[in-house]
Amino acid sequence: MKVLVINSGSSSLKYQLYDMTDESVLAKGLVERIGMDSSILTHKAAGKEEVVEVSEILEHNTAIRKVIDKLTDKTHGVLESVEEINAVGHRVVHGGEFFNESALVDKEAKKNIRALIDLAPLHNPAAIMGIEASEINMPGVPQVVVFDTAFHQTMPERSYLYAIPRVLYNKYKVRRYGFHGTSHYYVSLAAAEFLGKPIEDLKIITAHIGNGGSLTAIQGGVSVDTSMGMTPLEGLMMGTRSGDLDPAIVPYVMNKEELSVGEMNSMLNKHSGLLAISGVSSDMRDITDGWEKGEANATLAFEMYEYRLRKYIGSYAAAMNGVDVLVFTAGVGENSAIVRKAVCENLSYLGIEIDEELNKIRSGDPRRISTPNSKVDVLVVPTNEELVIARDTYRIVESNQD
Ligand code: AMP
Repeated sequence: MKVLVINSGSSSLKYQLYDMTDESVLAKGLVERIGMDSSILTHKAAGKEEVVEVSEILEHNTAIRKVIDKLTDKTHGVLESVEEINAVGHRVVHGGEFFNESALVDKEAKKNIRALIDLAPLHNPAAIMGIEASEINMPGVPQVVVFDTAFHQTMPERSYLYAIPRVLYNKYKVRRYGFHGTSHYYVSLAAAEFLGKPIEDLKIITAHIGNGGSLTAIQGGVSVDTSMGMTPLEGLMMGTRSGDLDPAIVPYVMNKEELSVGEMNSMLNKHSGLLAISGVSSDMRDITDGWEKGEANATLAFEMYEYRLRKYIGSYAAAMNGVDVLVFTAGVGENSAIVRKAVCENLSYLGIEIDEELNKIRSGDPRRISTPNSKVDVLVVPTNEELVIARDTYRIVESNQD
């Protein structure tokens, strides 16, 4: 079975075509600047040269058509015809309480994804555009939706409720949902596999730290708490997002600065975090460069980032009454030996001890960076959300054909 995985953003569309017989990636690419005058399509088939094409792509429908053109192109393609695509898997950010697992796309699923636009105004409309564009360009091909929130639907009430009047949950579903679920699920499973231990016996903390970042406490293979909340703003300090702050700051600053709701949202989501404190960049590479050069603002940004991350790890060890495995993943987690070292050095009270040489090794495979003496296995596990989407799509489509 060949599965096309699609991740639609409001102005971008990423794709990967999998051959599920061996889970190999046949081709992948990205359409950027959809809706703008010079859209860019970057396409790469396995074993062939990358192609970059600039054209006008005004909406997702055209973007998918161009992607199919590339996948079936005589020179750059990997398919004879579009009919070879057996199923399409879509990443959807918000599944709310409707979805605790991936689902086949039907009228009901689309209605529910639309009903959640209020909670994910930037993301869910883009997912709907990707689904409908696929329906038009690949009619009759089964489609599956895979949610960032689904893995966290196992959180107990004590983790997901906010201590505010219950009526807000009843009326508006104001609660914590958590995000990056596909990644937390994938790396926790890969970690248990790497260690050769049943996941049911493990207390795992997964740190998905990239541009956005979240931490999850996984006990017995299920998410019991996660740091992002109703939206992906809560929790850790991130590239451009504030993470946790006193909610009273919001009305206070809005009042003082005469800001609209949109302006306040934009400040906390796009102009805060590492970018705000360092004053120069949201990219951890620039922050650690500045820190190594002794630049004051970059140093403070680095220290705040590490301190907040460490506090969350400590709180999740408390939440689970212990921790067996700590997993680092995503852009910062997979690549920044400096961040991993700083965090782990300050977690010695948990019995964490990392091997500095192992920590410096770069590899695309799961690896251990803790010493044999460490009471906690500290691992780096490259995440692969697309593979989870492809696997879920395959499983659901297969089981519906029986
Ligand atoms: P992601 O959102 O998972 O794609 O992660 C992207 C982020 O990873 C970038 O914004 C960088 O901050 C970070 N990153 C990527 N490579 C490195 C690196 N070698 N060292 C530190 N941070 C990195």
